[in-house]
Parts: sequence; C-alpha cells; structure tokens
Amino acid sequence: MLKINKICPKCNHLENSLEVLVNCSRCSAWYFLDDFIENCKENYNIQSFLRSTGEDLKILNNIVKKFNWIFDEKLELYAFESTSYFKSTIHKNGEAGLCTYSIKLDGTWTKNNDVVDYYVGQTGKHPCIRFLTHLLEDKKGRGNAMIYIDDLKFYPGYHGYLERRKKELLMEKVYLDQGYSVYSR
Ligand SMILES: [Zn+2]
Repeated sequence: MLKINKICPKCNHLENSLEVLVNCSRCSAWYFLDDFIENCKENYNIQSFLRSTGEDLKILNNIVKKFNWIFDEKLELYAFESTSYFKSTIHKNGEAGLCTYSIKLDGTWTKNNDVVDYYVGQTGKHPCIRFLTHLLEDKKGRGNAMIYIDDLKFYPGYHGYLERRKKELLMEKVYLDQGYSVYSR
C-alpha cells in the first residue's frame, strides 16, 4: 500500500500515513481523507444511523473497519468493541465514559442566519465514529460543512442527560469566549 501525503486542515502539517483517518501529530486535529468520505457516500446507502437496520449495521461496520486502529487498547483513548465496531463505546484505561467534541465548520452552514464556526456535541462512541456519521448523514448541509475535530474531552463513568448537557456547554463556552459562534443542542 502506498503512503499518501495528507495536509492537516487545521495546521497544514504534512502527514505521511497509510490511514484514511488521521490524528494530526502536530495539532491533534482529527480528520478523514475527503476521498474516503466521498467514496463512502457514493458506494453505500445507509437508511438510518440512529435506528440502524441489520443492513445499515453491516455497512457501518465495514466502513469503521477501514480505520479500526482506534480500537487499539494501548491508545490513551480507544473504541471498545461491544456487539459491533459501530456500536463500540469510548474507553480510557478500561473504563467507558462520555466524550464532548468540537468540530470546525467551513463557514457554509448557518443557523438562524448566523454562520456557525464550531459544532459541539457529546457521545458515548469514539468521537471519530460520531464524526463519520455527521459527515455521511449531511443534515441540511451541516455534514458537508464539517472539516475536522478540533478538540475532544473524555469524562469517565455514566452521565445523565443534564450532566452531559452541562459538559457540552463547558466546551461551547471556550469557543464563545474567543468570539466564535457555536452550535450545540
Ligand atoms: Zn494539524
């Protein structure tokens, strides 16, 4: 397999890697190769990410398999396979938890007539798997506007809805304080 040069969309660092999913060694941004996402959109037809059918799951597992290095338990944060690759949960030191994540948008997605700079969310999955579903589901162009995961934060243990929302708002505040517009739910 040929190594491909990839340019980090956040810091322009040239990354030489075999992977379709890259965690920039300079700035820590996470990004997928454009070609990879485009190929997935062209070749797979997923009905639902939330209520995935058996066929959906088969497709999603095949896609996640292409960047399954995130399942390496030697990593600081890793995906832990439960019933399938897609249904894996984010882990650190053998413990499941919650991740908040921020995604940089390219300036083409607006909410209430405002251009949104960052999208902030939370997930029990590895944020890269959640990022993949954002990119493929393309809700009203939002997926198309997403460039890279700017930051992610792990919280061990179980968190109820209010706690999850609170953690999301903590991450949102960092960007708001810097003058960016942010969208989270
Ligand atoms: Zn970078």
